Amino acid sequence: MTEEQLFDRIAFIGIGLIGSSLARVIRRDGLAGHVVACARSEATLKTVQDLALADSVTDNPAEAVENADLVVLCTPVGAYEAIAKFIGPRLKKGAIVTDVGSVKRMVVDVVGPHLAPGVSLVPGHPIAGTENSGPEAGFDTLFEDRWVILTPPAGTSGDAIEKVSDLWRRTGSNIEIMDAGHHDQVLAITSHVPHLIAYTIVGTATDLEDVLKSEVIKFAASGFRDFTRIAASDPVMWRDIFLNNRGAVLEMLGRLTEDISALQRAIRDGDGTYMEDKFTRTRAIRRDVVEAGQHIPPEPPETSKS
Ligand code: NAP
Repeated sequence: MTEEQLFDRIAFIGIGLIGSSLARVIRRDGLAGHVVACARSEATLKTVQDLALADSVTDNPAEAVENADLVVLCTPVGAYEAIAKFIGPRLKKGAIVTDVGSVKRMVVDVVGPHLAPGVSLVPGHPIAGTENSGPEAGFDTLFEDRWVILTPPAGTSGDAIEKVSDLWRRTGSNIEIMDAGHHDQVLAITSHVPHLIAYTIVGTATDLEDVLKSEVIKFAASGFRDFTRIAASDPVMWRDIFLNNRGAVLEMLGRLTEDISALQRAIRDGDGTYMEDKFTRTRAIRRDVVEAGQHIPPEPPETSKS
């Protein structure tokens, strides 16, 4: 291994927006001796080859993980169980399995049981993304100045956690170690419920009769425009997130419904003081987000825009 290399062989199972962005950093900085990418479709594998995102490609996950030191699951989370069952017996002793999925508790539940002793599981979630999908949508600066949350189960080797942390640090990310259940609660309110609201509001507008719909699109002010961007996110990925974080999403939705009802009442009662107080508090939160540098959505650099 050269000095820059963190791993001899890294296998990506699934290589779309997130997997390809990580692969770009690994290739750019020579962090692995060999990168192998696995996807289902020929089109994705061809794009990976055309963009030189991997040294080799395959549509067989078991073949991909052969001799890999690090396996990174980058598919929608609903595919994890079947993949883990398939690759589990082929993983080499000492291998580390990690992932980038947006839900974390279920990773331990569905992947963990298929890993032999001597294989480490370090689930991860980069808090970075866009509404685009596929390997062509990735870019190597996606994770810069963002957070990556790692949720290793109790008893995970410290060495494995450090190696995965080191890889993410090389992308420019900051690392936070968190309990998986806590992650799912936090992300339910910061990401999952907001996506649900965007899907709902855009869906409601779409269901309106034709004239109104065209005017909704024609006069899309910034509020609605932002919702349409979020609601353009991959339907399968988001279906899987809601199916696998039911408890936390339902709890946060319950709270949100109560708060919406309170605002509904304030509007009906003409209670301007209540509304102004609420909106003043939320404005302060926005200031905190800006101060933390988390207000600008990640965008590909000009040079990689097509
Ligand atoms: P993506 O661009 O749609 O790529 C998904 C990849 O997984 C593709 O290579 C696809 O291969 C493969 N795949 C899909 N279904 C599969 C299945 N059933 N079995 C095997 N391979 C399958 O997705 P992404 O946006 O990178 O998201 C990947 C993961 O990152 C998800 O778990 C998501 O929760 C998480 N995440 C996403 C974001 C975001 O903003 N997008 C942010 C943070 C975390 P084919 O093209 O051949 O079908």
